Amino acid sequence: MIPYGRQDLDEDDIQAVEAVLRSDWLTQGPFVAQFEADIASYVGAKFAVAVTNATSALHIAMLGLELGPGKRLWTSPNTFVASANCGLYCGAEVDFVDINPNTYNMDVTSLEQKLELAHAKGKLPDVVVPVHFSGQSCDMRQINELSRHYGFNIVEDGAHAIGGRYLNAPIGNCRFSDATIFSFHPVKIITTAEGGVVTTNNEVLYRKLLRLRNHGVVRNQAEMQGQAEGAWYYQQVDLGFNYRMTDLQAALGSSQIKKLDQFVARRAQLVKQYHELFKGLPLTTPFCSEQAAPSWHLYVIRLDNKEHRKPLFDYLREQQVGVNVHYIPVHTQPWYRKMGFKSGDFPNAEDYYQRVISLPLHTRLTDDQQLHIVNLIKSWFKREAAV
Ligand SMILES: *Cc1c(COP(=O)(O)O)cnc(C)c1O
Repeated sequence: MIPYGRQDLDEDDIQAVEAVLRSDWLTQGPFVAQFEADIASYVGAKFAVAVTNATSALHIAMLGLELGPGKRLWTSPNTFVASANCGLYCGAEVDFVDINPNTYNMDVTSLEQKLELAHAKGKLPDVVVPVHFSGQSCDMRQINELSRHYGFNIVEDGAHAIGGRYLNAPIGNCRFSDATIFSFHPVKIITTAEGGVVTTNNEVLYRKLLRLRNHGVVRNQAEMQGQAEGAWYYQQVDLGFNYRMTDLQAALGSSQIKKLDQFVARRAQLVKQYHELFKGLPLTTPFCSEQAAPSWHLYVIRLDNKEHRKPLFDYLREQQVGVNVHYIPVHTQPWYRKMGFKSGDFPNAEDYYQRVISLPLHTRLTDDQQLHIVNLIKSWFKREAAV
């Protein structure tokens, strides 16, 4: 099976992990701070906090911004469930903003209209989570303008997006947001096996994220109440978690980030080739906004005819092509239906979902494999036209 996504590890990565295994530190050593410095410097943010995965990154980012009961989080329905669940973890209410039918990202006009209505009802969101689908940035400048007008915080879900750029600058620099999160799951752009990070330019938020990642415990006098009782002393000042990344993971991350630009370049090349190869077929290839240079986590084809989706998907799986679908709209999941969401609530995301297939896209995909996949799809359409 040719997978839709997979990691790309070389001998340097393996040696970086091995060196940690032979060192004195498996966790809470020097490698996490090094990886955080690497991330912050790559994206051009002041601070980075590495954690167990992007889901915990979202969780502490929300808590850091004081999302809680009686508050509201809005995100895109075209995302992995984690982008919305982080609101529920905090006891907040979750709602969605429909997607733009070209970019498949949160639609800014829909956001604006929904904000106007919410303002009239006194139900404005406290945090908005734009998801950079497939590594293509949302319209952050405009979302940021709306945030100033209506007074909400922004956390960018960049799980797909490390290495992507917006307005000629790296996603994750938080120029238009309070924080950005990235995922280092093996199918994402670079990997630490499991792993995630929050980037921010806000020092107060940064200090809070450090505490939340580590049980809410502090060891420096400045953050304590009263006086430290000795060198052994620590205080728990928040209710935090154990969301620490290990040094093994961090060392792998520092090794992987050196290859990030190369990875993104190869993905972009494969995307360009797919675009060319699909010309003339009854489907739409991904649109790319002029403001964005995506990291291209996914290559999604949208079929003109909804009825083609399942048979073409099944055919490709039979032919050992590991296609997938991103995403089942979050509001149609049973857990969210239980909260009152229903089909028809976000029609663009639902229509999109019924028409799409994610094709293999990763740095180990060869040109020959790509051609093979496209030829399978072409031959499927030929047979479809004949019957
Ligand atoms: C993968 C993903 C996450 C969660 O990442 P983990 O590191 O697996 O927790 C969150 N949001 C989006 C959009 C994702 O694709």
